[in-house]
Amino acid sequence: MSKVLIIGAGGVSSVVVHKCAALPGVFSEIMLASRTKSKCDAIAAQLDRPILTAQVDADNVPELVGLIKSFGPELVINVALPYQDLHIMDACLETGVHYLDTANYEPEDTAKFEYKWQWAYQDRFKEAGLMAVLGSGFDPGVTSVFCTYIQKHYLDEIHTIDIIDVNAGDHGYPFATNFNPEINIREVTAKGRYWENGEWIETNPLSVKRSFEVPENIGTPNIYLMYHEELESLGKHIKGLKRARFWMSFGDSYLKHLEVLGNVGMTRIDKVEFNGQKIVPLQFLKALLPDPASLGPRTKGRTWIGCQVTGLKDGVEKTVTIYNTCDHQECYAEVQSQAISYTTGVPCMIGSKMILEKKWTGDGVFNIEQMDPDPFMEDLNQYGLPWKVIEGKVAELD
Ligand code: NDP
Repeated sequence: MSKVLIIGAGGVSSVVVHKCAALPGVFSEIMLASRTKSKCDAIAAQLDRPILTAQVDADNVPELVGLIKSFGPELVINVALPYQDLHIMDACLETGVHYLDTANYEPEDTAKFEYKWQWAYQDRFKEAGLMAVLGSGFDPGVTSVFCTYIQKHYLDEIHTIDIIDVNAGDHGYPFATNFNPEINIREVTAKGRYWENGEWIETNPLSVKRSFEVPENIGTPNIYLMYHEELESLGKHIKGLKRARFWMSFGDSYLKHLEVLGNVGMTRIDKVEFNGQKIVPLQFLKALLPDPASLGPRTKGRTWIGCQVTGLKDGVEKTVTIYNTCDHQECYAEVQSQAISYTTGVPCMIGSKMILEKKWTGDGVFNIEQMDPDPFMEDLNQYGLPWKVIEGKVAELD
């Protein structure tokens, strides 16, 4: 029986709140706080049980501290934006509360996401006897847990990891992003990078692609090599790892629009002068694009996200793949959200449950792959994201 404070009231948050509210034995009291209180109230109105809502600016640490003290949660779940991570961690330290998020910190003025800023909190969380779990979404999140599950149950040593994220869903718009457009476009337009033998190999944005015949008749999309934050933490935590890469599918229409928007400067994240005002073009673009939370009713099709991992078992080379498929319409029927928010929100709830049930314990800052994968994997099956294991390759990537 524990109180949780959930910060942020967007697409992911809505799923987290629905899923936590469905487990009153674990999440006994819930407060949902965000910049715009009406969005919290709209989510609260969809639930079968009452929760508290509040307005908070999560960039204002004293304001956060006041809210946390007044409610007294055991855990703060951060599903606002990555820019807020450090402020929310500061407030947790000041109030003695555990912390969990789904995306690593990035400074607002540089599209550079690295764990160094959050790892720097290690000693402070340790000394305070508090736990911070980073990256409890799908990727990062479930993908890292899939890898440690393979390490624990299928291989003696992992050598290569290929994480593949396919969204074969169609929302019917020529261009829209499935989660926060600003964060999504910053991620996709960044240089590609993969980790090999302790070093980063850089590639031009979306310049390396493969065709992938996705299991379960999901289609044969092109997947593109990208940088993704879990590559950094997996490189640190999986002993013996030689290479880690991340691939994501994009449709031709999405890429064409992105290219044009980039060419005309609409994806820039620096301030430009417009009619006597300073505006950031990407933030302006976000205001024009469909709200990801509104895509739920119109998105059809499935996602497929999995890890293809090679290594040694009893001295013999072996490949193991674990994946989940998720249906956009089924997610909408259950929690009124599309599958991208769902596949992030469910693991966020499960990671929080692991902390509150003390299945995961420890003082300090942890990436999710440092935790025991077994109870988390069991809960994925139980709470909406069942997974399958294939002892072999699903994708030819080399
Ligand atoms: P949204 O933009 O839909 O929601 C973000 C929410 O945070 C909004 O409600 C916004 O408020 C609120 N917010 C922003 N700034 C502040 C602030 N200063 N104070 C309080 N609230 C604030 O994003 P998503 O739901 O799509 O994504 C949420 C998080 O999940 C992001 O960090 C994203 O990177 C991460 N994510 C992780 C994935 C994973 O698999 N690990 C996959 C997808 C997303 P307002 O409503 O007023 O704008």
